[in-house]
Amino acid sequence: MTETMKIGRDSVVSFHYRLGKEGEAHFEDSHTGDPVLYLHGHRSMLVGLEEALEGRVAGDSFTATLPPEKAYGKRKEGAQQRVPRKHVLTKGKLKAGQVVQINTAEGGREAQIIKVGLKNVDIDSNHPLAGMTLDFDLEVIEVRAATAEEIAHGHAHGVGGHQH
Ligand code: ZN
Repeated sequence: MTETMKIGRDSVVSFHYRLGKEGEAHFEDSHTGDPVLYLHGHRSMLVGLEEALEGRVAGDSFTATLPPEKAYGKRKEGAQQRVPRKHVLTKGKLKAGQVVQINTAEGGREAQIIKVGLKNVDIDSNHPLAGMTLDFDLEVIEVRAATAEEIAHGHAHGVGGHQH
């Protein structure tokens, strides 16, 4: 007889989700691909999702509403700047609202385009979901104990997680 495993520290969890802005239609759905796989309790997942998933078991379906501080953070002032087009690493035609990779002194990072000019692009380096309260519909697919190797690496191994 196997005991149903509850999600806790060092659980490897796979789950599906649908994500939307609070009270609005979902704009992201993991069901189009593999479930997300992560190692619980190692800060590799949004803090609000870890809190909502703690103690749950495979087969549980529920909704969690995450304020910005438990999801992608508050929007930061001064995150908007004008950069030369050549610093945009993403290829192809650029348009407002698009999330692109920008080359910075600290390496590549994501930013959202506000406006495209002839030589320059106005960007906002806030995460596109920063400042938003988010609704997650969650479905726990599988819960298992992490291997010693996964705990040492600080992440889960397998489809949807790290594969190396
Ligand atoms: Zn690893």
